[in-house]
Amino acid sequence: MSITCKRSALTKKCFYVSLEINMKNFESEENTQEFQQLESKLIRAQTELNLLYEISNAMRTTLKLEQILYIILTATTAHAGLGFNRAMLFLVNEKEGLIEGKMGIGPDTGEQANDIWKNIDTKRMDLYDLINVFNEQHSIFYSKFNNLVKNLRLPIKEESGLLAITLLEGMPLHINKEKTKTIEDNLLLNVLKLEEFVIVPLKAHDKVIGLILADNVYNKKPITNDDLRILSMFANQAGLAIENSRLYEKTLIQSHKDSLTNLWNHAYFQFLLKNELKNAQVDKNNLSIIMLDIDNFKEHNDKHGHQSGDQILYNVAKIIKDSARRKDHACRYGGEEFAVILPNTKLNEANNIAERIRKNIASNLFDNQITGEIDKITVSLGVATYPEDADSPSKLISICDKKMYKAKTAGKNKVVFN
Ligand code: GH3
Ligand code: MG
Ligand code: MG
Repeated sequence: MSITCKRSALTKKCFYVSLEINMKNFESEENTQEFQQLESKLIRAQTELNLLYEISNAMRTTLKLEQILYIILTATTAHAGLGFNRAMLFLVNEKEGLIEGKMGIGPDTGEQANDIWKNIDTKRMDLYDLINVFNEQHSIFYSKFNNLVKNLRLPIKEESGLLAITLLEGMPLHINKEKTKTIEDNLLLNVLKLEEFVIVPLKAHDKVIGLILADNVYNKKPITNDDLRILSMFANQAGLAIENSRLYEKTLIQSHKDSLTNLWNHAYFQFLLKNELKNAQVDKNNLSIIMLDIDNFKEHNDKHGHQSGDQILYNVAKIIKDSARRKDHACRYGGEEFAVILPNTKLNEANNIAERIRKNIASNLFDNQITGEIDKITVSLGVATYPEDADSPSKLISICDKKMYKAKTAGKNKVVFN
């Protein structure tokens, strides 16, 4: 919608400029200087229109957030795009009240800048060629500059500096070399080493969702009002593309979750296990899994009803997630059975985590909102490890399952790992 508006605004602009040219033509043929100025205005407006059209087409080729960010920054920095030397993209983390650096594109040094530009020239790379680099090689993601940007986080308050102020005000900002000398902003001056730069807000539905910061630190080309104007127009399209992609990724994540417990569902557990096992094999690492089953759960259901059972499942899932580490994947395997995938984890360490889960569940007082009583719940757990126990996802699950049933026959409320 907004893309169409931008296009039609520019088309209108082209139309009026060309109308102006025609009228001037009739008025006086000798007024060539004015005519040339108008003609160059027209050419510029046409170029801008084509450029915005091309970039918006490129952004429509994917819904993956990382690819969208890459396209936005490539369009900001490519000669065939807006032509800035470097560009950084920040997004708002509303939950934590932070502005977070997400990606930075640009050479690490002046020398590298020359090499890159020469290479682009020799190979006659256009915007699409540059965007395709994303699919072929990820060298950009290992650049020092990108790493630097990705580690930036700052609170959304005026005291954080110009990035936060631009975000709060929602207006583009141009700081030239002279003005830079008068500002005090440690992040921009000392960390990012900016001289002249622009910051433009990324908006989606009138809400500022992030920022683009761009500069010409290597070729020192002054930033013009036209540069800022077109970057701001582009930022409006970019903001919408980011928002769409975030919505898509959120929906995708939700489709992998179990709706009762909010843990990963069975299908995604299988996907994650296959993936993590492959990684472990390539990196020659260990991988462990824990499987657990609630003890005597049928009894609980029969006594208190399924709604109360559902409440227990929800709370047990929460304890499992809280007892595992950030890098572990907590999943609902099915019914009242759960599984945890523990990347890069040996049997001993996995056993400790399984023991922690067991104790945390056994010691928890489950507040039964249906009966008003306090319930006690226990679980039985099995632990299996790659490569010692098995070398395929299905064998690993089967061995782990057997150990879990061993824990059941040994009296329940136990961990079996060997
Ligand atoms: P054990 O200690 O041997 O595991 O005994 P158990 O009673 O837990 O095992 P059993 O397999 O006999 O029963 C599992 C029960 O889990 C049966 C079923 O009613 C219950 N269950 C499975 N999924 C759900 C669910 O989504 N909600 C509720 N409330 N109960 C569920
Ligand atoms: Mg069961
Ligand atoms: Mg059970």
